[in-house]
Amino acid sequence: MTNPDEAAAGRPVLLRGGTVLTMDDAHTILADADVLVTGDRIAAVGPRLEAPDGALEIDASGGIVMPGMIDTHRHMWQTAMRGYGADWTLTQYFVWNYLQWGKSFRPQDIYAGNLLSAIEAIDAGVTTTVDWSHNLQSIDHAEAAADALTEVPGRFVLAYGNIAQAPWEWSTTPEFRDFVARRFPGGGTDMLGFQLAFDVPPASPDFPEKAAFEVARELDVPVTTHAGVWKVTTDEGIRLMHEHGFMNERSVYVHAATLSADSYHRIAATGGSASLSTESEQSAGQGYPPTWKLREHGISVSLSMDTSVWWSADLFSAMRATLSADRAREHLEAHAREETVTHHKLRAEQVVDWATRGGARALGLDSVTGSIEPGKKADIVLIKNDASPVMFPLLNPYGHVVFQAQRGDVHTVIVNGRVVKYDHRLVGTDLARARHVVGETVDYLKGELGTQAWDEGMQPEIPEIRVLENPYTYTYTQD
Ligand SMILES: [Zn+2]
Repeated sequence: MTNPDEAAAGRPVLLRGGTVLTMDDAHTILADADVLVTGDRIAAVGPRLEAPDGALEIDASGGIVMPGMIDTHRHMWQTAMRGYGADWTLTQYFVWNYLQWGKSFRPQDIYAGNLLSAIEAIDAGVTTTVDWSHNLQSIDHAEAAADALTEVPGRFVLAYGNIAQAPWEWSTTPEFRDFVARRFPGGGTDMLGFQLAFDVPPASPDFPEKAAFEVARELDVPVTTHAGVWKVTTDEGIRLMHEHGFMNERSVYVHAATLSADSYHRIAATGGSASLSTESEQSAGQGYPPTWKLREHGISVSLSMDTSVWWSADLFSAMRATLSADRAREHLEAHAREETVTHHKLRAEQVVDWATRGGARALGLDSVTGSIEPGKKADIVLIKNDASPVMFPLLNPYGHVVFQAQRGDVHTVIVNGRVVKYDHRLVGTDLARARHVVGETVDYLKGELGTQAWDEGMQPEIPEIRVLENPYTYTYTQD
């Protein structure tokens, strides 16, 4: 098959002869194996499967077949500002989005960011993404966010939030309840799920957020919350949530970086999971990515990209950064004790699990997606790039995924049995339209801000750096 449009025909799909990382409970790896997809499900996995009539056969030889990756926290609306905040700290992110310009975003701007973000995710092999949508200032904004997620053939979860109001305000309005009843009856589907997204900063011992947690409980939907963010959300929020009985196995704690052992114990005891955005934690300053603490406490981990004002939807990058951050810390602390780390604790295999099964578990979708096993919905990525000198030799598949592969190597992506990318090209997705609507949003925002604010927002001041005196550098003065 050379024409990618043929892939959209709804035929059975047979991926032939790849190295299959099943990510089943035993983490079985199959060499030179096939994966058969019929309808929306994985029908069979094994050597030399028979092709059903009309099957679309994809040559996976030399490639890696793995489950679609899962991003459990991404502020998708901000993709309209792609790369704008590359030099921001978290403080500058808050000032620009929360205090200055976030309120300028209209429903069509939320739509534009979400549309591009959703397309970008499936292009990168991220078949499920949680849209941590915290700028839904009106129901029209929420409709726009959900519309974009519905139009792109990926699996999504709308995590509804609104930074313009307190969570106990927006979550208790009749309009909000009506929106949920209309768009997410029964709490949504496995193609478009629903969460409540809000934070619990240490502002009031009265715990006004209680009302929003009660709404989530009544709707029977999970809460996702930025927890353990340096000087923003603290142990106090975790304690209040726990003492009021709102922590459960569906709760997602984003970053979870600066918490005490007591808070980690509360998270572990109630079965919730942490969503690590390692690159965000490293660059913005929420706290050091807490992989070692989460391991010590037996807390489940998933990975996330946070926002494309800094990074794209690239979970290869997240896996790489997460593994490196864990090892960097281990070496640095050992060196401070005059010791040498001779064996790494965290392995490439584990972060591939976090990027796939970890996300599925966090979202209650473990019976649906996250591994390549017969009966599960077919969310599959083929990493294969015959033009790349980095695709061979393929000796250590987990290591290859984490430290060698990159999003440009994503050859084929299947979501819910549908081929959405084939031979490095998106199938059935209107990228030109996304480019057009995002262009309109950028033009509008530039006009709202004006040239000076636009430029200043992108280029924060640089603190003065003093170069140390160097004893090996001599300055001779002549009398
Ligand atoms: Zn976030």
